[in-house]
Amino acid sequence: MADGRFPRDRRGERRRRGDAAGAPARRRPSQPERPILLHRLFGAIPLLVEAQSDARGRVYMSRRFDPDYAPPLPPGAVRGDIRRQSYCCDVPKYFYCDEDRTCVQCGREFVFRASEQKYWYETLQFNFSAVPVRCLGCRRKRRSEHALREQIGRAKAHIREAGANPAPHLALARALVEYHERTSQGDLDAAVAAARKAGRLWPASAEPLYWEGMAQAQAGRPAKARQALSAFLEHPALRPGSLKKNAQALAARLAMKNVSIVRSGWSGDRGDRWVDLDAWRKHIAASPDLRAADVIPVWDPLHRERRSEPRPHCAYWTGHPSGVEYLFLWRIGRFEVGIVEKHGAAEFALADFDDALRRRCEQVAAVLDAAIQE
Ligand SMILES: [Zn+2]
Repeated sequence: MADGRFPRDRRGERRRRGDAAGAPARRRPSQPERPILLHRLFGAIPLLVEAQSDARGRVYMSRRFDPDYAPPLPPGAVRGDIRRQSYCCDVPKYFYCDEDRTCVQCGREFVFRASEQKYWYETLQFNFSAVPVRCLGCRRKRRSEHALREQIGRAKAHIREAGANPAPHLALARALVEYHERTSQGDLDAAVAAARKAGRLWPASAEPLYWEGMAQAQAGRPAKARQALSAFLEHPALRPGSLKKNAQALAARLAMKNVSIVRSGWSGDRGDRWVDLDAWRKHIAASPDLRAADVIPVWDPLHRERRSEPRPHCAYWTGHPSGVEYLFLWRIGRFEVGIVEKHGAAEFALADFDDALRRRCEQVAAVLDAAIQE
């Protein structure tokens, strides 16, 4: 051991090593013993006993896990190298086995693979308390959400530096729309503003119109979405590609139904108060043309999948002259109507419904308002 490893004390005297006669500090114990630690997985782990000296030169015996111990591997296990692990006060991992875990985000079971554990604890040298709580799919999703937040931040910084460049405005619009699509969060008005700004700075490009249309559709403004998407589709610089295909599909859906504002879901944190459940149930029971619906099947045309919203504050109205079933949702001060589609899912709209539907909505709203005020 080098002398430099022993700091000097206040008197400037070199501290005493383990042995005054200059023998090596690390000594074999006088009586060789082979203590072990019994472990349920790794069996009898041999411990190495070593003499160590503390700062005041006192010698004491310490034990450490034998890094060369190699217990037999169970099927599927991967050998661990304890020299590479930060095990601190834990028992090191002489081998890794696949572990079953439950994802905190989607609740699905997933396997923390032995080889993945070796990577975490030996290559990345994570502490053993670090374990994955999300499945691979949710981890990827989180990473992509994180990446989008970073893109939003970077685009805003570029706009501050060079506001006359259309590229960061376009990047901001795209990242805000994609972030909202994944998380139902984010400022869609800022996305519309950024897309318009990019369009003004770069009229030769069609793309700003695409992101404006997507932002308007996600914000629940179908008329404005249709307008932006048709301008995009008629733009002379439009090239064939996935943007064109997406825009055509969404524009077709928006044109087909007057009501097709897709809501990707809502949450209690918007400050809405909901109608008293008993009041509206009583109202439905008294109305022969209304049917209670405890789950709202929502059709998401962007991802072409059906989602279930377990909201009991809704009902089907089966009395429309067209025979089409409509779905009502009530909140204080606002009325939401959806059309129930052939596939059993519903699309939601806040406006754009016809006179028969509007009259029925007004009747229902009046009854509920009265029930709420009581
Ligand atoms: Zn998951």
